[in-house]
Amino acid sequence: MSALLLNPKRSSVIGMDYPGNLFVVAAPSGTGKSSLVKALMEVDSGVAPSVSHTTRAPRGQEMHGREYFFVQNSEFDAMVAAGDFLEWAHVHGNRYGTSRQTIEQRIGGGGDIVLEIDWQGALQIKRLFPNAILVFVLPPSLEELRARLLRRGEDSPEVIELRLNNARLEVAQASSFDFVIINEIFERALFDLKAIVHAQRLKFSAQKTLRADTFKALNIT
Ligand code: GDP
Ligand code: ADP
Ligand code: 5GP
Repeated sequence: MSALLLNPKRSSVIGMDYPGNLFVVAAPSGTGKSSLVKALMEVDSGVAPSVSHTTRAPRGQEMHGREYFFVQNSEFDAMVAAGDFLEWAHVHGNRYGTSRQTIEQRIGGGGDIVLEIDWQGALQIKRLFPNAILVFVLPPSLEELRARLLRRGEDSPEVIELRLNNARLEVAQASSFDFVIINEIFERALFDLKAIVHAQRLKFSAQKTLRADTFKALNIT
């Protein structure tokens, strides 16, 4: 098992040496982040999603436990107090948080996990896990972003305006991320995301674990 040691009550991680990869994907709402992550997982069973908790109400087809765990404010407060979140943030007037237990189990056991969270959460995660791989997805333009939010048809006009206004500020955060993908042509953006995931698995430390027999036969230590 891993050398990952988590302080059980507080959102701090002691020890950085965990075997799985932790990917964090952030983007302004409507950029296509969920579509990209969903498509990645359809072709790569090695990456699992992290299902966040949120105080937002479910949209049309969303299911409790699939897109999110939808909770009341009081339950969210209790989870914050119990130290159940690795990170949490206010986003577009609601609260969202990442479960500590899910992340710990997955990457501690050597699996890869992908978090679809906002930029504030992404930066909190990077502080806790400096090895986390931060990916920012940009829309090709704000006009196209508006068109996608309207086409998705899941949010009211007021919510769409709020999300577009926030997007104008959020895009500047791309400079703090390790990788940037521009989601203009979907298949191209998906290729870029797959390339980032694949490259992590080719790192020396990862190959040494994955291909232990070959390394041993070649006497590489
Ligand atoms: P939902 O939130 O589950 O309804 O899913 P989305 O509307 O985000 O996307 C539905 C499916 O369409 C996903 O599996 C995506 O892979 C795919 N998809 C979304 N946008 C595009 C696109 O622009 N081009 C292509 N080729 N596929 C897309
Ligand atoms: P997010 O998770 O970032 O809020 P979604 O994945 O829900 O965004 O995508 C927003 C909308 O844009 C969806 O209707 C999706 O099908 C569409 N979309 C995603 N990528 C593209 C793309 N490259 N070109 C056109 N539409 C896209
Ligand atoms: P939506 O309501 O469109 O699903 O998500 C709104 C925003 O909240 C998105 O930017 C999404 O990435 C972010 N978000 C979702 N889950 C989490 C989480 O657990 N933590 C943080 N910090 N942000 C989240």
